[in-house]
Amino acid sequence: PQFPNEWLDKHGRAFGHFIGGNWTDPAVGVSFETANPATAEPIAKICQGTVEHVEAAVAAARVAQPGWWDLGSHARARYLYAIARKIQKHARLLAVLESMDNGKPIRESRDLDIPLVARHFYHHAGWAQLMEDELPDYEPLGVVGQIIPWNFPLLMLSWKIAPALATGNTLVLKPAEFTSLTALLFAELCQEVGLPDGVVNIVTGAGDTGRMVATHAAVKKVAFTGSTEVGRRIMEALASREIPLTLELGGKSANIILDDADIGRAAGSAIYACFNNSGQECSALTRLLVPDAKRDEVIDVILGKMVRYTVGDPLDESVHCGPMVSKRQQESVTSYIASGIEEGATLVAGGEGMPDGLDSGYFVKPAVFADVTPEMAIFREEIFGPVLSITTYSTEEEAIALANDSDYGLSGGVWSGDEGRAMRVARQMRTGQVSINGGAFNVSAPFGGYKRSGIGRESGQDMIREYLQHKSVWIETSNAEAPNPFVMR
Ligand code: NAP
Ligand code: MG
Repeated sequence: PQFPNEWLDKHGRAFGHFIGGNWTDPAVGVSFETANPATAEPIAKICQGTVEHVEAAVAAARVAQPGWWDLGSHARARYLYAIARKIQKHARLLAVLESMDNGKPIRESRDLDIPLVARHFYHHAGWAQLMEDELPDYEPLGVVGQIIPWNFPLLMLSWKIAPALATGNTLVLKPAEFTSLTALLFAELCQEVGLPDGVVNIVTGAGDTGRMVATHAAVKKVAFTGSTEVGRRIMEALASREIPLTLELGGKSANIILDDADIGRAAGSAIYACFNNSGQECSALTRLLVPDAKRDEVIDVILGKMVRYTVGDPLDESVHCGPMVSKRQQESVTSYIASGIEEGATLVAGGEGMPDGLDSGYFVKPAVFADVTPEMAIFREEIFGPVLSITTYSTEEEAIALANDSDYGLSGGVWSGDEGRAMRVARQMRTGQVSINGGAFNVSAPFGGYKRSGIGRESGQDMIREYLQHKSVWIETSNAEAPNPFVMR
């Protein structure tokens, strides 16, 4: 990890906001440290965005917006391609910086997050190219306010920024306070490709800065990814404004193993489906539903995998699970593990406390519980850490009812030897996406939640429309076949 240090040192390990194509002075105002969660050591100083910063960023975005739209969709596509290529060129630096700041295993940031970020910009460059011809009656909304969480910092940034740019909007984005660094490096890459000033503005800071971005009177759309509570607060704050809002919120997703499934594959992948990103994933499949008769076999397969499942330094290539992003998150996950034990679930792997051999950083011991019942907190609440709950069922109907017994509706999984049967079950799950037999995430398919998991969709054509408004123009012509009867002649 030489180069993140070089890049951090080049900036004196202190970062301002990126507003109107310039950096604000990091020495002015209040700042806070961003830390490496694997060691709890500080990495760099980040500025706390104030009302003045948010005003300046929104003003810069407003000034830039008409020109960005007037460039035309083919010119905007060229910028998106240039950004995608820059991301690929600096992929290794971005991946290591992401792992340092967030704690995610390098094998994930390098092989999953950063390649998906580049694909997202390529994908939206394609949309930008199509827009002029395919969507001639649509116009951008103006300045959009975007607020993202810490679990996939650069990936969530790409989900927000790429469609906004493709559609001719300009934006102010606020990254999560724990993970601002890759957003700031992204801003530098925007400068390098010569993106016009003010098109992308990044204001860092804690939640209150996000509130100021979301509620600014000149912001014409808000896109938020984060917790259900904060999403609801933003919705309430916008109740008196007529602007579109998309919310990507939490989840508590079920993974149904049907009795005709290949148990080795289904159970073998269940811990990865739950523990990906060290379990800090909104669409994690946290509730494994298994037929009564297969309970012991499923647990055996999972225990076999857990023996080789490693927790440790996220920059170590062989590590599967890194630390939690913060001390608060570590404490919260640990308290859920304690509550599972207290409520009488059977702990089959992991437990409270730090993993053996680790004495600093915000690590937890990945846990697997069996005999989890629907009243338990670990069945109902989003834990956002590596904790898998196993619940048994007797009939397919019961499995579907258990899956749907949740306030959330983000994601789901079905395993079956019969694809038609799996599809019938998937159709009955009240969630925005379902994976059958381990089917992988598709960047061009719409993504979003049912129920308390959110409003609206990101990715795909649905996403493009979320950033546009339609204009119908009616032209009266002298030889119209059906002249407007309300016009006096
Ligand atoms: P969070 O606390 O809701 O924070 C999300 C973002 O909102 C952060 O940038 C946060 O700033 C900011 N924020 C906090 N209070 C705000 C306010 N009053 N107004 C505007 N912005 C405010 O969520 P988190 O703990 O970072 O992330 C975990 C949650 O995100 C989980 O519930 C997870 O399920 C959800 N998530 C959903 C998806 C999805 O696509 N559905 C994807 C990823 C995560 P600070 O960080 O500085 O507090
Ligand atoms: Mg950090």
